Amino acid sequence: MSARIIELRSDTFTKPTPAMFEAMMAAKVGDDVFGEDETVNALEQKTAKLFGMEAAIFCPSGTMTNQLAIRAHCIPGSEVICDEQSHVYIYEGGGIAVNAQSSVKLIRGENGKITAAQVGNVINNPNDIHQPVTRLVSLENTSNRGGGSIYDFKEIVSIKNVCNQNKLKLHLDGARIFNALAESTETPLDYGKIFDSISICLSKGLGCPVGSLLLGNTEIIKQTRRFRKLMGGGWRQAGFLAAAGIYALDHHVERLREDHRRAKEAGKLISKLSYVKDIYPIETNIIIFELDDTITAIEFVQKMNEKGIKCIPFGKQLVRMVTHIDLTDNDLEYLHHVLSS
Ligand SMILES: *Cc1c(COP(=O)(O)O)cnc(C)c1O
Repeated sequence: MSARIIELRSDTFTKPTPAMFEAMMAAKVGDDVFGEDETVNALEQKTAKLFGMEAAIFCPSGTMTNQLAIRAHCIPGSEVICDEQSHVYIYEGGGIAVNAQSSVKLIRGENGKITAAQVGNVINNPNDIHQPVTRLVSLENTSNRGGGSIYDFKEIVSIKNVCNQNKLKLHLDGARIFNALAESTETPLDYGKIFDSISICLSKGLGCPVGSLLLGNTEIIKQTRRFRKLMGGGWRQAGFLAAAGIYALDHHVERLREDHRRAKEAGKLISKLSYVKDIYPIETNIIIFELDDTITAIEFVQKMNEKGIKCIPFGKQLVRMVTHIDLTDNDLEYLHHVLSS
């Protein structure tokens, strides 16, 4: 086992920087279940304002914020349209069925992204009593299983038009929306105008230890406060965590392009390895590559582990690596060294 550990399994492994930690320790807190944690309130207001939305709710995870949104948009017997690789479908424990008592219409998109035409083709006939009522479209930007791919904003606008024509709500799983924004000309306000709800994670690229927010109109957010409580997600002096979020929004957004640069640099080398068959286009901080049949993903990950480099199998022949704030150029050099030896 190597003495040096380079964590590339996810951008969720980051630890607070000393300055973030200081901000957390200095937070003014209260009981958030009573609405009295002023730092939580400040974070919710700051984020809602940033995206031009009416309100926000701070939660422990992105799974919770996605699930709260889906539950709020769907009554039992509804149907949600999403890409077949969506986090809301494959990584949330079947939560759409459990929490919203609704079904899913899966679309095979490209790198996790679906089109307006595809959405238009799968909306159920609201007058046919056999079919669940299509009520929601959920998009993921950037797409995790799509390799950190970014939506073309024009496509999002077209999807919104289809939603309007068919009275559907539109949700964004924006766990990594700031990674998408860092590479686009659009602003958070542009997204706020389009979506009925937006979930963002502070615990991913922004480097916070814990936390996600759901943004929406006053009514939706009020409803989700009740749902969050019944899920056991009402929390008390969460301001210590909210302070990390405020700090990250002020200091860790601009730097995301550094993570993207490092991912692209690592990708260049990975794509040249003899046993790498294919690599997804690297648009942000996620690297996904396919191994040829001389080595499986589990074997590759094991070999890397022995050298102190942690990454994860993402399928039988697929491996994922994610860059983040705790990764330095020096770490990248070590990765190059290990891969080339
Ligand atoms: C990480 C992630 C989430 C939320 O995950 P939690 O671990 O519950 O915070 C949601 N969507 C996507 C695309 C993600 O990558």
